Parts: sequence; structure tokens; C-alpha cells
Amino acid sequence: MRALIAGFGALLAGLLVVGGVVLDDEPRPVEDSGGSGELNLDAVPEEFRAALLDAAGRCPGVSGPLLAAQIEVESGWNPAAVSPAGAQGIAQFMPGTWRTWGRDYSGDGVADPFNATDAIGSQADYMCHLRDLSDAGLASGAMSGDAVQLTLASYNAGPGAVAKHRGIPPFTETRRYVDRVLAAVAKYTLTGDDGQYEGQGPGVSADGTYRVSMPGSGHLDPSTLCELSWSPRILLRCDAAQALERLNVAYTDRFGAPLGVSDGYRDYASQVAIAAAKPHLAAKPGTSNHGWGLAADLIGVSPEGSERYRWLREHGPTYGWQHPSWARIGGSKPEAWHWEYVGVRT
Ligand SMILES: [Zn+2]
Repeated sequence: MRALIAGFGALLAGLLVVGGVVLDDEPRPVEDSGGSGELNLDAVPEEFRAALLDAAGRCPGVSGPLLAAQIEVESGWNPAAVSPAGAQGIAQFMPGTWRTWGRDYSGDGVADPFNATDAIGSQADYMCHLRDLSDAGLASGAMSGDAVQLTLASYNAGPGAVAKHRGIPPFTETRRYVDRVLAAVAKYTLTGDDGQYEGQGPGVSADGTYRVSMPGSGHLDPSTLCELSWSPRILLRCDAAQALERLNVAYTDRFGAPLGVSDGYRDYASQVAIAAAKPHLAAKPGTSNHGWGLAADLIGVSPEGSERYRWLREHGPTYGWQHPSWARIGGSKPEAWHWEYVGVRT
């Protein structure tokens, strides 16, 4: 889907004529005015992380931190928010805008502005469109200002108002909106040098459920990986593999057969291939716990309410294996089979 959207976007950009300027589909340099930087997932509420990761970097000029900051200001991360003016959901789409831009990113068959996954994906698409309009307006001299600020002003006041005023409209609400979003960007931007994590294993998020994109994911030193004794060819980081061995002994005692494991460590190339083949199931390459050898996909534990699933929920944490809440029913990507090693808290 990502490739499809990118292709569609490029097609649109290739055909779009704005103010006499034909936009091409060349990647643009990313501005520094609040619009760049890597997403700090720890600042994003857990249930929205997968959707944010998918939306981050949809186009070069609209970053994950910018989208996250915008959501904070729009709705305070409330998917049920409704404004007095009738704006709906976590990204506060007006119904008319949603009719044009709303898409079913959750894959449940309905494009719903109150579904956070649908809304965040559509917000990214719409922001990319507004960014294109802003860039075109700046390039043609039809407007002046900063591309990110013009894009935010367009989201708040509508692109027509920005075009009419040839820049940020003189509306107190819109100016305040732009300021507030830009002020919130820092909170959602990852700081520090990611390179320090290379080869040192993952940076575990505060709740142990997700890792930020870092060099090294999918490029682990093979000597740090161990094969499962009962499931050859499945590799995990050795401590995670040893913990799963112990969990499997208890599981086999209980159910009379070993735990089925279909997937463990994924190198970067397979993450890219899986993300292309199953965009709604696979994490953005470089962000999956499979890339750290700390996630296992289990066979026979679905659905979530099944006896085996409930047994694992009860006993897995004793061995450091947990089912992340984003992968549970009601989470952003329910996957009963996807379990992660977070270690045992002492
Ligand atoms: Zn998985």
C-alpha cells in the first residue's frame, strides 16, 4: 500500500498544475522549521504508534513529529473528539474534507474519521497535499512564508484562505494554531545520536513494547542470535530464545505439544519485503521488534480469547514474553500471534 500510495502521489504530483507551476515528483529537501526529525515514539500514546509510524514520512515535507504535534493540538489524542464547528476525530477532519481525503487505513471496510488509524493515515495524505500546494505557491511567488507553517495554516483555515491571503491568513485562531503545533514538535522528536545504539541491541521504549527506528535493526551480528531447539531456522536474540525455550517447556507440559513459531528475527531485507507485501500487518522497516530478534509470531494461539492465548497471557510474562497492547483487540493492529520479549521486570 505504501508503494501504491507513493506511486499514486507521484502520479498526482506529476499531473497537478497549481498557479501555473507544474509540480514534479522529485523528492524535496525537508525543511527544518519544525517539519523534520525522527519520531519519538515514547511520546506517542501506545495505541497510536503503529498508525503514526505508517504515516510518518509519507512525503518528505511532512514528518512524524509534525503529525504527532498536530494531533496533540487538534484533539489531545482523543479519537472521539468533536469540535463546536463539527470537526471530527483525532485529526479533526471537517466532514467535507473527510469525504475527499478519508481512507480506510485500518482495513475494516469503512473510512471513518473517528477511527484513529483511518484518521491518522488520511491526515498524512491531506497534509502532503497541502504541503505540495504550499511549495507550489512559494515557487510561483503566489504566496510567501515558511512551507511548514503555510501547510499547517492550510490545514486549519483551508488552502483557499491561505491562497487568498497569499500566506498565513490574519486569523488569530490560525496563527495561534501554527504556533502551538510548532511548539509541540520538539516533544515528539527523537533527540540524541541514534548511531550509539549500533550493534548494542535495542533501545527499549518505556513500556517495553516498541522500538524506535535505529541503525542496526535487521543487521544484527549473527553470533548474537540463537536458533530455537524445537523450531529450527527460527532465530531470536539469544536471551529471548533462551527465555522462550523455558516458556515452551511449560507450554508443552500444559498442552502436550510445543509452541509453534512461524517467524522470529527478520533481517532488514525481509522486513522491506514483508512491508511491501503486507503493509497493514508489517511494521515500517527498521522499527519492527523482529529486526531486533525480540519478536516471535506464534502459531495456534489465535484468536485472542482462545485457551492457549489466555494461558500465554497469564504465563508468558513470567518468562519475559508479552503480548503488546497495540497487538491486542482494540489496539491499533490486532495480531494475537505477535509476541515480544521485554525481559522480566525485577
Ligand atoms: Zn510479528
